[in-house]
Amino acid sequence: MAKSYSSFTIGRIFGIPIKLHITFLLVLPFFAYLFGTFYFEGSEHLWLWGLLLALGLFAGVTLHESAHSYVAMKNGIKIESITLLPIGGVSQMEDIPEDPRIELRIAIAGPLMSILIGALFLIAYVPFMKLEGDWIKFLLFMGAINLVLGIFNLLPAFPMDGGRILRTFLARRMKYDVATHYAVIVGHIFAIIMLFLGIRFFPGGIMLIIIAMFLYIGRIRKKKDKQEYFLL
Ligand code: ZN
Repeated sequence: MAKSYSSFTIGRIFGIPIKLHITFLLVLPFFAYLFGTFYFEGSEHLWLWGLLLALGLFAGVTLHESAHSYVAMKNGIKIESITLLPIGGVSQMEDIPEDPRIELRIAIAGPLMSILIGALFLIAYVPFMKLEGDWIKFLLFMGAINLVLGIFNLLPAFPMDGGRILRTFLARRMKYDVATHYAVIVGHIFAIIMLFLGIRFFPGGIMLIIIAMFLYIGRIRKKKDKQEYFLL
């Protein structure tokens, strides 16, 4: 999969190449505009803060993926790369051994990282919450976005992190394939719910529709020799 990406390496974390997909550069101004007009309305430097929040969000996504990769590496799994896409991040790694304990640790590390980042920004925000200022809003929104990312990824919707966590619990009681099968069914139910919500709240719900499609095709994305971790 990595080879078909038109992406370039921007740096390394724990020796893992962090790649940026070319489409990311195309959507960055769009994100900057969206965040600027949504969250920094009336600000003199609307574009700048919008851009900083967009970059902050993707830094958060990178740290989330790095957390998965770090724990995987600690468990002897080879990591090929982390790629940042407009819709999130993907960690390309060797197939994870069918050991629920190892997969649980890897799957939970990402959301925990996002929740930690979110909490740190919100803690930094609290002393200034009564004051006005763009950077104070920045602290609040960085906190909120990362917290939401962490919690959203805990939804038991395979192949999202929560779905993988669900599979580890199922896999303690049944064969791995069967556990995957049930986790995929639950994932599909979530995909259908998100699709309906996305249509109901269109155009605001467009993100939910995109996520629903990814959840639905998630099952066939898994390659024979490779496992991918998503953050959507
Ligand atoms: Zn994740």
